[in-house]
Order: sequence, then C-alpha cells, then structure tokens
Amino acid sequence: QLTTGLESAWNKLRGVDVLTKETIVEPMRDIRRALLEADVSLPVVRRFVSSVSEKALGSDVIRGIRPEQQLVKIVHDELVQLMGGEVSDLVFAKSGPTVILLAGLQGVGKTTVCAKLAFYLKKLGKSCMLVAADVYRPAAIDQLTVLGEQVGVPVYSEGTAVKPAEITKNAVEEAKRNNIDAIVVDTAGRLQIDKTMMVELKEVKKAVNPTEILLVVDAMTGQEAAALVTTFNIEIGISGAILTKLDGDSRGGAALSVKEVSGKPIKFVGRGERMEDLELFYPDRMAQRVLGMGDVLSFVEKAQEVVRQEDTMELQKKIMSAKFDFNDFLKQTQNVAKMGSMSRVIGMIPGMNKVTPAQIREAEKRLAFVESMINAMTAEEREKPELLAESRERRIRVAEESEKTEQEVSQL
Ligand code: GDP
Ligand code: MG
Repeated sequence: QLTTGLESAWNKLRGVDVLTKETIVEPMRDIRRALLEADVSLPVVRRFVSSVSEKALGSDVIRGIRPEQQLVKIVHDELVQLMGGEVSDLVFAKSGPTVILLAGLQGVGKTTVCAKLAFYLKKLGKSCMLVAADVYRPAAIDQLTVLGEQVGVPVYSEGTAVKPAEITKNAVEEAKRNNIDAIVVDTAGRLQIDKTMMVELKEVKKAVNPTEILLVVDAMTGQEAAALVTTFNIEIGISGAILTKLDGDSRGGAALSVKEVSGKPIKFVGRGERMEDLELFYPDRMAQRVLGMGDVLSFVEKAQEVVRQEDTMELQKKIMSAKFDFNDFLKQTQNVAKMGSMSRVIGMIPGMNKVTPAQIREAEKRLAFVESMINAMTAEEREKPELLAESRERRIRVAEESEKTEQEVSQL
C-alpha cells in the first residue's frame, strides 16, 4: 500500500529533467500523503519530508540517472536512517545469565515472542529458560508451558500467588545454578497503559536489572504505536522494540516511527505464528520492501560509484601536474563530510578501525580549523597557493581574518 502510494510520487517526475524546488513539490506531496496513509506519525512525516527535500535539492545531477530514480534512492537512504541505519541485535550480559524482559499491552504477542526468542537463542547455541511472570491468568502460565515444551526449553513458574519481581529474581538464581545463558521473562499486559502494569515492570527491573527490556508492539496499532513506545520508554526505559504481526494487513507506519520517536531500535519483527517467524530487523531490507525497487537502487548506486571514480581520476591528474590548489583541497574535505561522519569513513578503510573517538574528534577539529583559513583567502589566493608562500602580508591578512596565527597559515 505504501509502495503504491510512493509510486505516484515517482510518476510525477516523468518528463522532468532535474530535481528543483518546483519539480519536487508534487512528488513530495505524494510522499507525505503515502506516509500518513501508512500510519507514520505526523511529526515523523514532517521531519522525513523536509529532510528528503533538502537532500533532493542538494544532490548533484548524475549522468544517466533519471530524476525519479535519484529521488527513489534518496527516499530509500532516508528510510534506512529513519529506522536506525544498522541492524540492532540482542545484547548479552558480560557475566551471569542474560535477562530479557518483555513488556507490552495485552494480546500483542508477548508470550508468543518469548517462545520465538527461545527458539532464536537455541539456534545461536545458547541455553535458555522462560519465566512465567504473568501471574494474573493461570491460562497465561499454561500457554507459556506448552510453548516451552514445543521449543524444548524449561519454563520457570511459581504459580499465581508470588509477585513477578520475586519470581524473576528466583528465576535468575535458578538460571545461575543451571548455567543457563539467557532467560526470557513473560509479563502481564493490559488493554491500555495502566499504572499497576508500569509499577510491576519497574519492580521487576529493579529486582534483576535486565540486560534487555523489549517492548512488544503490534504492528496493527498504527499511529498509536509511536505514543506507546514513547510512554514505555519514559516510564521504564526500554532497550528496544519487537514489532509483531507484520504478516497481517498492517500499514507499516509503526516500523517507520519507532526509532525516530523513542531513539530505541526495533530489534525483531514477527511475521507469523510459527516459532521461526521472528527475524532480526534490518532497516535496509525494510526500506527496500517499502519501496519495492531493488533494481533502481543498485543502478543508482553504481552510477554514483562511477562519478566518484571519475572525480578521483580528475584529482589524481591534478596532483600529478602539481595543479592541486586550495579549492581542490576544500572540495575534497567537503566530499569527505558529504560521505558521512569522519568516523564512518575511517571505519571503511581496512585496518583502520582502531581509531579512537578522541582522535576522530581531533581530526574533525583540524579540518574545520583549516577550512576557516581557506575561507579567508581571496579566490586568486586559493587558485595560486604560491601567492601566500611569497607574501608575508597576505599570510598575516589571512591569519587575522581567520583568527589564526601567522605560523599556522604558513604551515597550511
Ligand atoms: P500476549 O497477550 O501479548 O502474550 O499475546 P500472545 O502471545 O498470547 O499472542 C496473541 C495472539 O497473537 C496469538 O493468537 C498469537 O498466535 C498471535 N500472534 C503473535 N505474534 C504473531 C505474529 O507475528 N503474527 C501473527 N499473525 N500472529 C501473531
Ligand atoms: Mg501473554
């Protein structure tokens, strides 16, 4: 549905030669409408649309790429960012059993997720135990017991008379005694957010300090998913979310909103009732699914790569012929900035992943430092660095204007 909504945006660009303020008006309106219809929350839509417009207007024309293809790529990249960029896997405790606490409203799929997570953990070669801390309905404990048997993991229960925090604490002790790697705690949900539920979750949190607190959200919740995640995050502090029932006819909006509104990633998605129907959440795969245009994306990526290679060759020629001036230098610096933060660029260089954040900050500061000196130069000086080398007067002027010392300008 979202996919068809967006298609109309690309169609508006047919016959258009370049992305401009005027030509993107209609397509952006369609993108906005498509997102709202898909139940993405309004503030998220606003930010998304403005960020896509900005990127679209700031993007260079790439030979062989049609404007609508370029816009598809920009929307894709922004969707990936919106959903957190990278996959966010489970975190495990450094020592002792990993405790995964599940929270969420009634009927969203918590108990099912417990068993699915046990299945997932077993596949990773971890031993696991389920904990029945939904003490209000005896049926809930039975359901977990049946699922535990199905997956082949033990279920820890103390019936309905003991408090969830107490049960969970005891379960952690039991897990330690049996050398169990991870426990997944099933809790009681309510139809709506309510105080008792929050207090109970806080008590469990206080008692065992869980490694992960995952909010289970039904994808069908639509617009309200955003508010739900925000509230749980403020009240108990979650480490991530699990989106269930993505196999149903949900409109996908929740998947797009969660990270943006709460700052917490979606870690898994549920796509059915079978144990194997729980998958890690990959923002790029989700974005591709939303757009349904994998071929266009790889095409644009290749074209961009070619442009980059041509730029590099141009640059090499300049360096070889000693015509590398301050303008080239500035362009290079800005290109690096365009490609993402310094740390990501450095991270892409093989063998260079041991750079510390402090070193990166230092390098970024150096770049800004140098840029301000270049900005203080005249156009002529930028093209002919030798002018500065020859004239102390010019160096002093640049130093004064950029608030640097003469020596620093000489070094540059
Ligand atoms: P809880 O109240 O949060 O513990 O929810 P349950 O785990 O009992 O699940 C409620 C219903 O949703 C059950 O019938 C599940 O089989 C179903 N369910 C859970 N996850 C999914 C899913 O990803 N897809 C579909 N189609 N159904 C699901
Ligand atoms: Mg349940």
